[in-house]
Amino acid sequence: MQVQSSFKDDKIGHLYLVPTPIGNLEDITLRAKRILAEADYVAAEDTRTSGILLEKIGVHNHMLSFHKYNSKERAPELIKLLKSGKNIAEISDAGMPVISDPGYILVQECIKNDIPVIPLPGPSAFATALIASGFDAQPFTYYGFLSRKSSEQKVFFEKMNKAPATSIFYEAPHRLKKTLKNLGEVLSPERQIVCARELTKIHEEFIRGSVKEVIDYFDQNDPRGEFVVLVSPNEDQEETLSWPELIKQVDELVAQDISKKDAIKQVAKENKVSKNELYDKYHQ
Ligand code: SAM
Repeated sequence: MQVQSSFKDDKIGHLYLVPTPIGNLEDITLRAKRILAEADYVAAEDTRTSGILLEKIGVHNHMLSFHKYNSKERAPELIKLLKSGKNIAEISDAGMPVISDPGYILVQECIKNDIPVIPLPGPSAFATALIASGFDAQPFTYYGFLSRKSSEQKVFFEKMNKAPATSIFYEAPHRLKKTLKNLGEVLSPERQIVCARELTKIHEEFIRGSVKEVIDYFDQNDPRGEFVVLVSPNEDQEETLSWPELIKQVDELVAQDISKKDAIKQVAKENKVSKNELYDKYHQ
């Protein structure tokens, strides 16, 4: 067991986890700016990107590179500095360090070494998207980036489909259409989703609608910029079965010598889904 009193021991350094803007520079907090200026070092995921940010907000400090490819080797060096009394402010390219960004290993090492870890509140894309999504924020589940493989995504969406919580994930623009298509193959076409685009920036947009409507929208409008995808909670735990589950039900009836046509009709009726849509999914 361990109790961390964040501001008691001055002899040992502190690790500050400092969120930076996800687009709009005005979103840097006064405290974040002060800590970035006062720390002995700023550990940054990309020293060039962060150097530009620090320059823009008028902060000049020593930078150390700390990213996902060097974090294991770098962490002991940073721990040594912290133990010698140096304060380190850790930042990522944008938003909260640790959230789909490096930082976790260093936090773990600090905890192991009794070095205080001081988190600063601030911008993060998923929380920013969630509060404007219109979906209930309690409970929600944040998944970060999903697997890029369609087969793995579909297995994941099967589980997510049943979740009584708002689901949130990040997706790159060039993969968004494919991922939404995979989502559409599992979720009922009427399930509500939101794609939050370019948050806090000039082209900020919220594309809200059913899975089908949003897929159609992106067929007409190529996805550009950064995206957070949110899926509404499954409020009807009993009734909403995924397409593969409905197809399985049809197969079970067919195995009992019921014609495909009648089986599709029966399953569609019992589950309140469109007969034509189930027919299409069944024959895909
Ligand atoms: N640490 C960041 C945070 O706290 O949100 C996330 C970093 S992750 C490497 C980058 C992803 O976050 C992007 O690919 C995008 O999915 C999402 N993201 C970051 N900024 C965004 C923005 N302004 N609008 C929408 N999504 C954003």
